[in-house]
Amino acid sequence: MDIKSFVRPNVRNLKPYSSARDEFSINEESMIYLDANENPFETNLNRYPDPQQKQLKAKVASIKKVNSNQILLGNGSDEVLDLIFRCFCEPGIDNVIIQPPTYGMYKVLATVNNVEVKEVLLTEAFQIDVQSVLNAIDINTKLIFICSPNNPSGNNLNANNIREIASNFSGIVVIDEAYIDFTSNESWIKELEKHPNIIVIQTFSKAYGMAGIRLGMCFASPQIINYLNKIKPPYNINMLTQIEGLKQLNSLPQIEENVNVIIKERDALEKMLINLSFVEEVYPSNANFLLIKVDDATKRYQQLVAKNIVVRNRTNQPLCNNTLRITIGTPFENNTLLTVLKEIENE
Ligand SMILES: *Cc1c(COP(=O)(O)O)cnc(C)c1O
Repeated sequence: MDIKSFVRPNVRNLKPYSSARDEFSINEESMIYLDANENPFETNLNRYPDPQQKQLKAKVASIKKVNSNQILLGNGSDEVLDLIFRCFCEPGIDNVIIQPPTYGMYKVLATVNNVEVKEVLLTEAFQIDVQSVLNAIDINTKLIFICSPNNPSGNNLNANNIREIASNFSGIVVIDEAYIDFTSNESWIKELEKHPNIIVIQTFSKAYGMAGIRLGMCFASPQIINYLNKIKPPYNINMLTQIEGLKQLNSLPQIEENVNVIIKERDALEKMLINLSFVEEVYPSNANFLLIKVDDATKRYQQLVAKNIVVRNRTNQPLCNNTLRITIGTPFENNTLLTVLKEIENE
């Protein structure tokens, strides 16, 4: 598969900006750095951050069992997604396929980049409609987005379906694994060599508990990563984020323990919610949230807000009529939610 042919010609030919800290990183105390117009007075933050985030990537590489040259880090996965659009999609000409109901940013970023969006709905069971996706592909289709586990439905998408699409598409398949740590399904990172046209996206925002530092990860072939590196802003991951990300990755056992609590709480909450008279369905979840169908989502949403609990009303999403998406909280928060839902039931 000729990845190069999918890349926009301007990106293919781009000579990237070479920053001062690309040419000389700060690692020798004895050197005098007068190359980057930084302020020389030490504040711990007066120097530009490492544009290649070498330490952080080495740590991520060892955890995810890939090479550093298969990783790109972004200011949240939203930046990674934007870079992917700008790398592969010619504005006004190319198009992408998304599969609603799904993460809203794919469409927003496509629109920002003036890239046409083809929507192929998931099936009623929130699985990929493979034939319809393949039928929707045309000569200008550059990206197909797959979110697994899917937001807002919460379920894993069938791996054979994903494989079929990756094998039959001459373009890039973006697999968004923001919720991968809440499922026992394997990450597609393992398949990068078998399928050179896939890009896997993960984030520090969910299982790792670091939404505030804005750090997203992207895994792909060194060739794809190289193109994305060419177009990323030189200092896209700030120094505080690099330091904190690295620090948190050194306490993985704590992170895993919290994930296990969330999974246990999710499974317990699932069993309790279905007992409420106004809950019609609790969809199976492999993520850190539950999608439920109720009698009247907007009414129930407002009742919850009035009692100081905010959930996400998804009723206007395709296939999601009268659904609410509920993030799994702490055990205390989940118990409070159940108590309040029972109060509402009796109102
Ligand atoms: C939350 C979420 C993200 C995370 O985005 P960040 O910019 O990394 O915080 C990405 N994809 C999906 C599907 C999500 O639900």
